[in-house]
Amino acid sequence: MKRTTQCDARDTQYAIRSMQYAVHAADHSSSCAPTSVRILGVRVDALTYADLLAQIADFISAGTPHQIATVNPEFVMEAQRNPAFRELLERADLCLADGIGLLWAARRQGGRLPERVTGSDGVPRIAERAAEAGWRLYLLGAAPGVAEQTAEILTGRYPGLQVVGAYAGSPADADTPEIIARIRAARPDILCVAYGAPAQDLWIARHGEAVGVPVMIGVGGAFDHITGVRRRAPGWVQRLNLEWLFRLITQPWRWRRQLALPRFVWAVMWEKRY
Ligand code: UDP
Repeated sequence: MKRTTQCDARDTQYAIRSMQYAVHAADHSSSCAPTSVRILGVRVDALTYADLLAQIADFISAGTPHQIATVNPEFVMEAQRNPAFRELLERADLCLADGIGLLWAARRQGGRLPERVTGSDGVPRIAERAAEAGWRLYLLGAAPGVAEQTAEILTGRYPGLQVVGAYAGSPADADTPEIIARIRAARPDILCVAYGAPAQDLWIARHGEAVGVPVMIGVGGAFDHITGVRRRAPGWVQRLNLEWLFRLITQPWRWRRQLALPRFVWAVMWEKRY
């Protein structure tokens, strides 16, 4: 009888621990390793903005350097011909689906990416959460003065936000030691790098360990869009999935780079590897 009682007590304790574990697991379900799809060999993680913020919180808690890439069809095509870039994306902690073409490609092969998660919309969302959570932001890149102006806009919009550094610098090797010193001195939790792809992502992959920031994300033209230095496609154009066309019309000098888009569509349709 006594033994049975001890067993019952142990069973009860075990059941309580199991329930506690289940609740803990459910609490963290959004920040567990995401599922992903492969598009022309490149991993793209199936995440929403809410998932991204949960992952960022986990990376900051872990404290070790993490790299996030905002992948679009141009990235995928660059990865076909640039092994260093392909390797970097493979090793990145998160590959976000920044580009409607990726959602289309995933659907075509029976997979699913829940939504576009872009650098330009991601930076304000990260800043908003950073203001609540006390995360420290560093803005690196874009033309001189643009990162500082971005910092002003974001701190005005999200009271309490700590932007601990804003600096243009450049991805050139000669500038790297000074940039690393500035970032290390500022001790940010999140580093947004706006040098365009693939330069920004290669910079993070090369120097991420040295700067030692828990979250490092390549954000392309995000600072230009936030400040209005460059106009982003209006919402209705984005909803029609025509942001790429808006870019081609407003930045015609990008036509050569944007040739990656038809090549991407062709490659996905024919599963052709470059
Ligand atoms: N940029 C920079 N230094 C460089 C090259 C680019 O600061 O050596 C900045 C440029 O000013 C812009 C951003 O990187 O703010 C790239 O924007 P783009 O829209 O071309 O990026 P994408 O997302 O298309 O790669």
